[in-house]
Amino acid sequence: MKKILLIGTGGTIASEVTENGLAPELTTKQLLEHIPAISGICRTDCLQLLNLDSTNMTPLHWLQIAECLRDHYADYDGFVVTHGTDTMAYTAAALSYLVQDSPKPIVLTGAQKPIGFDSTDSKINLTDAFRTAASDMPGVSIVFNSKVILGTRAQKTHSKSFQAFSSINYPYLGVLRDGVLLTYIRQESGREPVFYDTLNTRVGLLKLTPGSDRELLDFQFARNDALIIESFGVGGLPEANGFYESVLHWLEEGKVAVLTTQVQNEGSDLTVYHVGHRLKNTRGVLEAFDMTTESVLAKLMWILGQTRDPEEIRRLFYKPVARDILWPAEACTEN
Ligand code: ASP
Repeated sequence: MKKILLIGTGGTIASEVTENGLAPELTTKQLLEHIPAISGICRTDCLQLLNLDSTNMTPLHWLQIAECLRDHYADYDGFVVTHGTDTMAYTAAALSYLVQDSPKPIVLTGAQKPIGFDSTDSKINLTDAFRTAASDMPGVSIVFNSKVILGTRAQKTHSKSFQAFSSINYPYLGVLRDGVLLTYIRQESGREPVFYDTLNTRVGLLKLTPGSDRELLDFQFARNDALIIESFGVGGLPEANGFYESVLHWLEEGKVAVLTTQVQNEGSDLTVYHVGHRLKNTRGVLEAFDMTTESVLAKLMWILGQTRDPEEIRRLFYKPVARDILWPAEACTEN
């Protein structure tokens, strides 16, 4: 029987009702007591790493989870990480960069309703997560609502219902039906994982609104080493507000600019409209294509934790990690 480590970090799944609303209080041991049937799937050890509402998670916690995985990697066949749903997609993306090529499953899960509630998705999600962790599905994934979603492709798309997560611009890796994992896609993996332990957290994100002020852009660039600009549609910058000049200025100062889209599905393509064209032809501007914003943010933190060389940043940004970007490589080589 496979040996799986359950790492608890908090979230609704571990929450109890308090005077001030739901708060994570249950330990991983208490979670397992709710589902005795898991002993029929695998052998399990419990580790309580954090007990947080995931709203309070920071990149330092991502590093802590990655370090925990590294410390225990050799002793287990797979890992289940229980986590709040609100920022689970960010953590899944971050772990995809911090623990690359893992041949063992690293499965994040959580729930929209606490495990102690009569109507809850906690038990099915946790059971499915163990089934996946005890399978041969390599790499980082989220198991939720009977779906297996690649860690770099998940996004929280429903705030209340059980189908909390979607897989963006990429198919599900598998589904769970009546306790059986049906695998559609098996990620490639290495023989050994590659662990990283550094992130540069000076990465900002600006969502444009019609008529946004250039000062917002300047403010964010000044405070960060990289700025992700979530523009409209397939991508572009408003022409009237001096936005383009701001980007040029900050590129010269050594900052990194990434253009992405606010639209959830199908990604960016700066070549389509004249509002994007200028950027496409500006050396130093990167484009997110089909990546999720969560992955762009985590990838930039990972890249800037290793290098400040513009060519190397560009190379690493467009190099697929855990199938985070599928745009044809030739579209990414020159601009
Ligand atoms: N606020 C909770 C959290 O992210 C929501 C959840 O877990 O569903 O920790």
